[in-house]
Amino acid sequence: MACIYLDNAATTRVTEEIREAIDRALDENWGNPSSLHEPGYRSAEAIAEAREEIACFLGVCPNDLYFTSCGTESDNWALVSTMEAHEERGRHLVVSSIEHPAVLNTCAYLEKRGFEVTYLPVDSYGLVSPDLFESALRPDTVMASVMFANNEVGTIEPIETLSGIAHAHGVLFHTDAVQAFGHVSIACPAMGIDLLSASGHKLHAPKGIGLLYAAPCVGNTCFMHGGQQERGRRGGTENTVGIAALAAAVRRASDSPVSTATRITNLRNRLVEELVDGEPHATLNGHPRLRLPGNANLSFSGIDGIAMVELLASKGICASSGSACSSREQRPSHVLSALTDDLDRIHGAVRFSLGDETTEAEIETTIREVRHAANILGQMGLVAF
Ligand code: PLP
Repeated sequence: MACIYLDNAATTRVTEEIREAIDRALDENWGNPSSLHEPGYRSAEAIAEAREEIACFLGVCPNDLYFTSCGTESDNWALVSTMEAHEERGRHLVVSSIEHPAVLNTCAYLEKRGFEVTYLPVDSYGLVSPDLFESALRPDTVMASVMFANNEVGTIEPIETLSGIAHAHGVLFHTDAVQAFGHVSIACPAMGIDLLSASGHKLHAPKGIGLLYAAPCVGNTCFMHGGQQERGRRGGTENTVGIAALAAAVRRASDSPVSTATRITNLRNRLVEELVDGEPHATLNGHPRLRLPGNANLSFSGIDGIAMVELLASKGICASSGSACSSREQRPSHVLSALTDDLDRIHGAVRFSLGDETTEAEIETTIREVRHAANILGQMGLVAF
């Protein structure tokens, strides 16, 4: 059964042009990039070209871009290595309370090692307040980490404002841009970003490839101790195929017309308007405008979000009851819990994440099936939809 895939925030399909880039890399870039012979040189050259292309996309110097295995590794590197490298300056870190577990659990690890972490609350849209952010900074604060866009509710944070405040206090600024990379425009130096994490599988590359941008001011931190790969800062033979796929994914994103984002936003708005407007039992979670183009996180009060996701799945519609990492857990989402204390809204949340392959017909079908599912589940829960 062909499915309607509205779970692009969890992961994306590898598209034809990226599959071709993978095949080419498998054929041509199989040599070890460290080897001193033709197959090795070819691989090293392909990596250099990919690095240059991706660096240009982010407006950064290729030498400041490092390939990793995933967004989680990039977040670990950014937080652990930077805090350790600047220990003489202080042991305090500021993050938002709605970060992905890749950041939050890394903070928990740092706390066990004697570092101090301040977790900033967010408003009911999921936005970090610049005033609260500034008041959390201390003389011993080394870095702040606020995600570019939230993975569950799609809210886009005021990154330029926050990084400006951080710099005014001599604090390094990291952003987890795993959900935003390739979906909204990002220029690291212009936005005051010192460190940025991204992941290929949210952008039609396969799983297993990510990147970290680290500006020279971060210092010469090393995450994976080993060989001299990635200028001695991340040992391990390079994932030549994944790197080629990531470059192809970035090319695809930068070649895609601006109208693609507008088209996705319009489809998303259509879904929200049809399902939420005038419906007393439905709510849009996150900011109405400052959100990722493809994200629609909706709560259906009196309805269990997991039951809704399962019923939709039985109709061939793929959505998520929360973030990909927590949708199998029964714990309430820490993101929604930070936005509201309305348990009904927290438990009734369903995330639809549209992609550039989503069609109008798919959205029409989804609207129909969600209404149908809400009526069935609503009757069980005594809520008329
Ligand atoms: N950060 C955010 C905001 C994410 O959404 C995810 C994955 O969903 C990650 C980090 C982890 O990325 P990866 O799956 O590449 O480790």
